[in-house]
Amino acid sequence: MAQYRIQQIEDYVELIGAAKVERIRNKAKEFEGLRVANFNSTYYGGGVAEMLSSMTLLMNSLGLQTEWRVIQGTPDFFSITKKMHNALQGGEIDLTSIKKEIFEQVIYENSVRNFIRHDFVIVHDPQPLPLIEHYEKRCPWLWRCHIDLSRPQPETWKYLRYWIDLYDAAILSCPDFVQEMEPPPHFFMPAINPFNIKNRELSDKEIDERLAHYNIPTDLPLVVQISRFDPWKDPVGVLEAFKRARKELDATLVLLGNFATDDPEGEQIYESLCACRDERILILTSGDDSALVNALQTRAAVVLQKSLREGFGLTVSEAMWKGTPVIGSNVGGIRYQIEDGVNGFLVSSVEQAAARIVQLLKDKKLRDEMGERARETVREKFLLPRYVDQYLDLFAEFRK
Ligand code: UDP
Repeated sequence: MAQYRIQQIEDYVELIGAAKVERIRNKAKEFEGLRVANFNSTYYGGGVAEMLSSMTLLMNSLGLQTEWRVIQGTPDFFSITKKMHNALQGGEIDLTSIKKEIFEQVIYENSVRNFIRHDFVIVHDPQPLPLIEHYEKRCPWLWRCHIDLSRPQPETWKYLRYWIDLYDAAILSCPDFVQEMEPPPHFFMPAINPFNIKNRELSDKEIDERLAHYNIPTDLPLVVQISRFDPWKDPVGVLEAFKRARKELDATLVLLGNFATDDPEGEQIYESLCACRDERILILTSGDDSALVNALQTRAAVVLQKSLREGFGLTVSEAMWKGTPVIGSNVGGIRYQIEDGVNGFLVSSVEQAAARIVQLLKDKKLRDEMGERARETVREKFLLPRYVDQYLDLFAEFRK
């Protein structure tokens, strides 16, 4: 029979040191058998699903019975929740009573199907928020919000607060996102799994093979952005920055994207971008191929993350982990990953992004130095054990 195995905390010894590994293992012993339920709205696509898949496994390997449940919804439910998500990041929404009714009814139906006999419930993002009101509360409920809450639309915030205030703690990605609410805020930056196919080291041959498979030319330096097709990721700004940079030197742009099951806007955005394709502007939808994501992040001369709002931006840490310098917008969680001019560049406009692309493409030494510091930043701050460690500390606070 095949030998199946999941990652153990001890696998991280070389990356974070034996002392940290031992500390986390010992801490977790206190929680042996703890039943933790995670709820979110998509099993696939986007950073939350990416993290839940690795985090729940690592917690299980540490002895915590950690479950991951995905709420089921109709297309109109996801269309409403995406609008809410946009409104929480500062967009506009007209929350009619029928939209509220659909949202609340679908969550109620999910509560009927989900039996909770856990020691902790962690609800991710706004979609499953109202679950809490349908259970007799027997354990702490934590709201883990991954999105950029720096400027939520007031009406949406007020509407959702009714449920947010029922939670025992809120976990945000950074202090910039604190809003008025009852639950005390905690700050956990997301983290990556360095061992999965998306992040582990690939050989040159494997990278060449993946890029060739998608006919991605490697004769010129690659400028890459990898993101769901979502206006907040500013794909139009990426195209403009690249076109400006190309006036000074030649390169190939790859805009790779995917679609999440809880994000119905993607198709339309992808189609509108396709009009901009040319032989040096590749717009690809093969983002479901993790090895391709890895190959592009590794081989790129420069990775962009030109988001207009960003809760964290796992793609930034993913590229930095591969020693690739990232030009990221000076927003949300991106600025906690990139230290401007040290391990990458922070930019606030298309012009700045274009100038940094040109600067980096012209200067291999700078790319190498920044890339090396970028990898070190991720090793120190953005690997999964640190994230799990923070959850263990929070669980411990509730035991006091
Ligand atoms: N991703 C992917 N293929 C794509 C686009 C994105 O696998 O075509 C992954 C990306 O590698 C990262 C996650 O989806 O792991 C996106 O997380 P991030 O925090 O950057 O953004 P979100 O989509 O959650 O807003």
